[in-house]
Amino acid sequence: MDSTKKLIPLAALQHYAFCPRQCALIHNHQLWAENWHTAKGQLLHERVDRGEPETRKDIRFERSVSVHAPSLRLTGKLDLLEINSAENTLIPVEYKKGKSKVDDCDRIQVCAQAMCLEEMLGVEISDGAIWYWQTKRREKIELTEKLRKRTRGVIEAVGELFDNESLPKAVFMRACNNCSLLDLCEPKVSQADRSVGYMEAIFKDDYEKTTK
Ligand code: SF4
Repeated sequence: MDSTKKLIPLAALQHYAFCPRQCALIHNHQLWAENWHTAKGQLLHERVDRGEPETRKDIRFERSVSVHAPSLRLTGKLDLLEINSAENTLIPVEYKKGKSKVDDCDRIQVCAQAMCLEEMLGVEISDGAIWYWQTKRREKIELTEKLRKRTRGVIEAVGELFDNESLPKAVFMRACNNCSLLDLCEPKVSQADRSVGYMEAIFKDDYEKTTK
């Protein structure tokens, strides 16, 4: 890995899969805003992180586990790692506040977590899991070749986004209504406003000033 390149936080993959512009605003331009969804998610992660490691039957539960994969430029933390000594398996578990989604945003994040563990420990991981707070359900994530391929594609795309410091154009979609950056991004205005190029130049300019 080129050590001059910015590392990719695992969460950035989920942000990119949700909306490439959201990923750029958060990770290239350091914009963040809380809304009801992010505040609830933060609360959930604080609760999970406070938990102590424990062992029940054959399973060791490790919380807030740091992982990285230099070959993929990835770094981040797992909410929970389940180590099953009887079955000799590792399962990364991500906690999310909402419910299972049709798209793969959350699954990509878990797949990347597993890929980090595989690189760090030289193991193969077949499954991950996501625990959804709203529905109180655990979803098993099969780490199929299709999901791995999609995940590698997103990692590559985020890497390019970071390297180019680009800001994709705003395109309004239904998901924008749940995005904490809606007021800052103003996708409906940006889409119609010819001065959008000017605004994006300001974002880029601000970013360059903070990183020089
Ligand atoms: S408001 Fe919509 S276009 Fe803008 S960052 Fe959020 S999801 Fe993306």
